[in-house]
Amino acid sequence: MSKFWSTMVKRTEPYVPGEQDNRQDIVKLNTNENPYPPSPKVQEAMLGEMKRSLQLYPSPTADELRTTIGRRYGLTKEEVFVGNGSDEVLAFSFMAFFEPGQPIRFPEVSYSFYPVYAKLFDIPYEEVPLSEDFTLQVEQFFQSKGGVILPNPNAPTSLYAELEHIEAIVKNNPDQVVIIDEAYIDFAIESAASLIRKYDNLLVVQTTSKSRSLAGLRVGFAMGNPALIEALIRIKDSFNSYTLDRLALAGAKAAFEDEAYFKESTEKIIATRERVSATLEQLGFHVLPSQANFVFASHETASAESLYKQLKEEGVLVRYFNKPGIDNYLRITIGTDEQMERFVGKLKEIL
Ligand code: PMP
Repeated sequence: MSKFWSTMVKRTEPYVPGEQDNRQDIVKLNTNENPYPPSPKVQEAMLGEMKRSLQLYPSPTADELRTTIGRRYGLTKEEVFVGNGSDEVLAFSFMAFFEPGQPIRFPEVSYSFYPVYAKLFDIPYEEVPLSEDFTLQVEQFFQSKGGVILPNPNAPTSLYAELEHIEAIVKNNPDQVVIIDEAYIDFAIESAASLIRKYDNLLVVQTTSKSRSLAGLRVGFAMGNPALIEALIRIKDSFNSYTLDRLALAGAKAAFEDEAYFKESTEKIIATRERVSATLEQLGFHVLPSQANFVFASHETASAESLYKQLKEEGVLVRYFNKPGIDNYLRITIGTDEQMERFVGKLKEIL
């Protein structure tokens, strides 16, 4: 077997891909997608692009989209990189900034793709355990040999680390790149993007898959010092000089231009999250204080695995975790109010 295949690690599948697409009879709360459609302006922009320009290659530099994203954070396009979903941006970042032989650090409980990428690119890693209350042990990330990557808010715990903690980690790794994966940041307090001009070793990665309702379009991005962005562009160019197609470029740009729609749909999800968390607590769950579009909860007596199975039989899909450090927890994506009512109704019948 070639080395490449022997180092590949299969991702744990939350579901069989395609199996649940467009099914009206199930409540899909297992992959942290947004229950609301994207802004109507996204469809308009993509249709316009389709009518006008599909016969032409897209911009290899994606300048317009990078400028639009940068503007939101007070950055220039030289400080923004775009890719096919943040999974691809993260893969390029592993290649660009982490080295074989120099162990990187990430939380023991965090996004399941980090160890997959580390193994794929031959990068050794140290997993830092969370505290008992699931918060980050901030000082354990100081002075890493090879760099740091962590999600904020963390997945699957949903907990947010205050910016001062993130800044302390960046400051205490002056010669290494610190990647903050902010897939869920728009449901939380504030982004570390405000620290980019202060620290040239900070890379902030975000996605349009969650708060902008564009998981199907595959647009992720990274923000950082122009030298970091240039390194990512070089890696990308060696695979594919185009990366994003015309529809993705137009759709993502339109999503960033409709701030009012974005604000309304994220606020709606946050309000639903708070209501669902309170209801789950009344039903005997310990619910972590979520800053994401999902909640992480453990019932005082019922097993998470059996709740997951019984909910699935009733057409409600969630995820359960039975791993060291996060034993017996359910992760529930926040859907529409109607979906959450159906979920809570089924849960009450089961408990
Ligand atoms: N980071 C985290 C923490 C995630 O949970 C996810 C998606 N589940 C991603 C990155 C990747 O998102 P995408 O590739 O859709 O941008």
